[in-house]
Order: sequence, then structure tokens, then C-alpha cells
Amino acid sequence: MRFFPRSLFFKMALSISLVLAVIFGASSYITFRIQSEQALDATRNQAIVLTRALKNTIRIGMETGHVESLMSIFHTVGALPGVEKLRVFDEEGRILYSAKISEIGKLTDELDYAVYRSPERSTPFQSAATGHRSFCMVEPIENEQKCLRCHRKDIEVLGVLDVCLSMEETEKNIEFNRTLILSFTGLAIVLTSGLTSILLRRFVSAPVAKLVRTMESVEAGKLDGRVDIRSGDELGRLGNSFNDMIRKLSEAQDELDKFHHRQLARADRLASLGEMAAGIAHEIKNPLAGIYGAAQVLSREFPEGDPKREILDEMMSLMKRLDQTLRDLLNFSRYTEPQFSPVNVNEVIEKVLFLVKQIPEGKRASVDREFDPGMPEIEADPEQIKQVFLNLVLNALQARPEGCVLTIRTHSEIPTEVPDVKIRNRFVVATVSDNGPGIAADRIGKIFQPFFTTKESGTGLGLSMTRKILDLHDGWITVASEEGKGATFSVFLPRKKL
Ligand code: ADP
Repeated sequence: MRFFPRSLFFKMALSISLVLAVIFGASSYITFRIQSEQALDATRNQAIVLTRALKNTIRIGMETGHVESLMSIFHTVGALPGVEKLRVFDEEGRILYSAKISEIGKLTDELDYAVYRSPERSTPFQSAATGHRSFCMVEPIENEQKCLRCHRKDIEVLGVLDVCLSMEETEKNIEFNRTLILSFTGLAIVLTSGLTSILLRRFVSAPVAKLVRTMESVEAGKLDGRVDIRSGDELGRLGNSFNDMIRKLSEAQDELDKFHHRQLARADRLASLGEMAAGIAHEIKNPLAGIYGAAQVLSREFPEGDPKREILDEMMSLMKRLDQTLRDLLNFSRYTEPQFSPVNVNEVIEKVLFLVKQIPEGKRASVDREFDPGMPEIEADPEQIKQVFLNLVLNALQARPEGCVLTIRTHSEIPTEVPDVKIRNRFVVATVSDNGPGIAADRIGKIFQPFFTTKESGTGLGLSMTRKILDLHDGWITVASEEGKGATFSVFLPRKKL
């Protein structure tokens, strides 16, 4: 299993770890904040309760004259853990009583005195005068009717109770909690990420890696590989479908191979048949010329209208046909290596059209040219290409001898139906369309076979020869036709020799 930033495993593990880190981090932070707030609130409330309780105790002690007990309570409470300050100061800020005897007579802290003078007095406030946070409260003890026994009437405030509770211990606890929460969060993230990675690797990455390996081997042409994922989940099903696909692909490949072998064997047979036919044609051609010459001499021996002369003329016309077939056969087998030179397809077609204009069907036909003016010169054998278009145009004219409407189009690249631009502009195309009877669906697959013809005087070699020439040029030919609606033959030729 490769572990690199672009792997699926890495991306999923990273995403999950990030999400976990955010969730755990946020929840720990919120918990920590709540705990801190609660601790602060608790100290704040303690400061209020203690101050109010002491104020009442002082009042009762003063009223009942138990000043001694009051001092003892002051000392006892002042010694309690967390009580940092417990004192009473006068209106000038001078300390009158304190749990710490040494403070008596000194001035109280500036902050406490300032709070006392402000409207916020009697409300807890935070102080950091001692290097750590404390919650303090200053509570004035007002002069009342009951106090006039001992205090002067013009004094408004008899003293100010100043209480501070240290948060040192609470802060230590908060700090400890923070360390604990952080450690647990870190541990939870590491453990959950680790566990998730293990599960991911087992249930996702490993099966995906198997799929990728098998796909690569299929891509390399090995169709015997299978994906081994035994789980019943989506990946398991994907693996099974993939195995099915490879099996079908392998079967199709076998079929194709067999077909190819059959085709090769057939091509071999055809090639040797072609050679044999060419040999025989050659052997027949000369005696046939001799027989034709003799028949001509004999025919001249008889006067016009003599039935014997008619028989001889008929024999001669049959011999002409035989001679044409032999010539086609020889042409067919003669086409081998093309002699490449620059060829302009538009010009070649023009030459062919000029030639066919000389025969009666050509004279009766009308030609519609839609030539691409940007047609480049291609590398091809001009004679062979001429033969291709001659065959196609002659077939079109013969399909509608009484007056064919021929449409010939050329394109400097394959029209848009081929999406790959690289292939499109490597070929030029020429189409020859006619308004003849078209080709029946059951015949269209046979027309390129040698000797397939539907014409009385046809040899059935024109289209197979055309296909052979295009094969030699690394081009190809297609046909589109519907019975009764004419036929269109498209010739594809590479611009440059491949
Ligand atoms: P041939 O012209 O000697 O018959 P080809 O190989 O040129 O031999 O053509 C084979 C057959 O294909 C023709 O006999 C004809 O049935 C059919 N064919 C070819 N071109 C056309 C066309 N333009 N319209 C209709 N049928 C055609």
C-alpha cells in the first residue's frame, strides 16, 4: 500500500483526522471554558456570601458589644484556606481591623479603595495585585440609629469591609484540568485516527489497490487476472462486476482472435486465388486474342446479313467481354506497392469526370461539385487514386444510366462526427453520391467482395480493387445507402504516408 499525498487512503485519513481534531478540539475548548467560568462564578458567589455573612456578624457583634468574639471570628475566618484578605478600613482607607494584625493602621490597597469610592461597590471584582487572580468585595457598614450609642451621628460609614478570596487554588485546578483535557483530546485524536486508518486500509484502500492492480494488468493486455475481494459491500460488488467485465472482455477477445484468424486465412486464400487467377488470365489472354483475330478474319469472309457472320460477331462480342474480365483480373492482382507522389484529390476527380464525360452515361449525367478549396496535396499514388474514383463514378453512372445526378464533395479534414481533432485533420475525405436505386441491406455487406456483382456485364472486381488500393494507402472506404434513395461512398485518405 503506497502512502503518498495523492492516494485515496491519505486523503481520507487526513480528512477524518482533521474533522476529529476540529470536533475534539472545539468540544475540549468549550468544556474548558465552561469549567473556568463555573470556577470563577463559584469564587465570586463565595466572595458575596462571605462578605454579607461577615457584615451581619459585625453588626450583631457591635450591637451586642461582643467585640472580642468579633475579633476571634475575624481571625478564624481570615485563616481559612483561600481567604486572602479580611479587613475593615475607614473612610480614608486606613485599615481598622484585619485578620493580619500587622496590617492594622496601614492604608488599604488602592484598587479596593477606588472600588469603594466608585458606584460599583458591593459588587465582586477581580484583582491581580498578588500575582494571581482574586475575587474581592468591598462592602460599607453604614451608620444607623442603633449605632449611635457608640458612634457619632455625622459619620455616614462606620467602616468598609474588604474581603478577598484567592483564586490561586482554583487556577491551579483549572490549569490541571486544561492539561488533562488537552492530553485526553490529543490521545483521542491519535487513537481514533489510528483506528480509522487501520479500518480504512482494511476495508477501502486494500480492495481499491487490488482493483487498481487488476485494472493495470487488464490495461497491459492480461485478461486472465481477477480481483479477489470477498466482502459483500459496494467494493466487493464492484470487484465482482469488474471480474464479470474482464471475463466478457476475454471472451470477446477470444472471439475476435478467432475471427481475425479466419479473416487472415481467408485473405491468404484470396491472395493465392488472386495469383492463380492472374496466372490463368495471363495464359488465356494471348490465345483469346488469337481466337478473336481468327474470328474477325472469318467474319469478313461472310457478307453482311449472313447468319454465320452474325454468329461470329456474337462470338467476338462475348470474347471482348472475356477480355475485359481478364484485364480487370490482371489489374486487380497487379495493384501492389503504390508509387507515392503529391496528389491533389480535387484535380484527380476532375480528370476522372473528364474521362467519363466521353461515354454515353457520362454525357447524360449531371455533376454537382462541392470541392473544398483548401484541399491540401496528399501523399498518394495518382494512378491508383484515379482508379478509385473512376470505379466509384462509373458505378454511380451505371446505377442510373438514363441520367444520373452525381454529387461529389471533398473535405480537407474528416467532418465533425469524429471528435478526436488529431485523427480528424490527418485525413482528407471525398464522397461520391448518386440518385440511383441504392443498395439493399442484405447486399451492402457483400459489395466489396471480389466477384460480387449484380450487373449482367459486371466483373464484381471494381469495389474490391478500390478497397485494396485504399488499404495500400492506409485509407478506407465506407458506404451509406438506402434502397431507392441512392448511395454515398466516402473515401478517407491520409494526408501523409503513415
Ligand atoms: P461491378 O461494377 O463489376 O458489379 P463492383 O465491385 O464495382 O463490381 O460493384 C459490386 C456491386 O456493388 C455492383 O454490382 C452493384 O450491385 C453494387 N454497387 C456498386 N456501386 C453502386 C451504386 N453506386 N449504386 C448501387 N449499387 C452499387
